Amino acid sequence: MGFEPWLDRLVISTETKAPVISASQGVIPRSLDEDGETVPDPHAWHNLANAELYISNITKALIAADPANKADYQRNSQAYLKQIYALLAQARAKLGSLPPGNRKIVTSHDAFGYLGQAYGIDFMAPQGLSTEREPSAAEVAALITQIRQAKVKAVFMENIKDSRLLKQIADESGARIGGTLYSDALAATGPASTFTGLFEYNINTLYDALSKP
Ligand SMILES: [Zn+2]
Repeated sequence: MGFEPWLDRLVISTETKAPVISASQGVIPRSLDEDGETVPDPHAWHNLANAELYISNITKALIAADPANKADYQRNSQAYLKQIYALLAQARAKLGSLPPGNRKIVTSHDAFGYLGQAYGIDFMAPQGLSTEREPSAAEVAALITQIRQAKVKAVFMENIKDSRLLKQIADESGARIGGTLYSDALAATGPASTFTGLFEYNINTLYDALSKP
């Protein structure tokens, strides 16, 4: 879905004859605004129904490439799907229990559209903030106004490292500063170092930020 554009060049330059599988095949894409252009949003794994599609595509491709071990691939796939369904039940129970007024979040990285759509959370991007550098005083003031007007409950700003600035945004906007949400990559170690671990971590982080009155 355009998330790893370098992969196409890699495949061409290796001149491999191996089949190339698109793991996201069958996903109904959301769209994303990228520098004024509408593009398919590639962050589809943040909806577990899509994760199920990825698993099915990968399983089918492995079986096609190595039919002798079909039973193993099917067994492992079923075991993994069980983990996904347990996670789905957890996501629905936790995020479903949030009060209707506690469902608005601002994140600096526009990566959670699928999660928001699937589990009823409204993710908003900060207006006019560059992700490349620390925001100016005027940009912070505009962000605070946006948070107050939309009655945003929690803010996750990966690009603001200055803890005083985060405290100022929290104090003046009334929103809670959440922890880290993992968007595009697994952590090298710790709970978010697997896909299911990452997803569970994000659910718990969102729940902690949004469940308090
Ligand atoms: Zn991303």
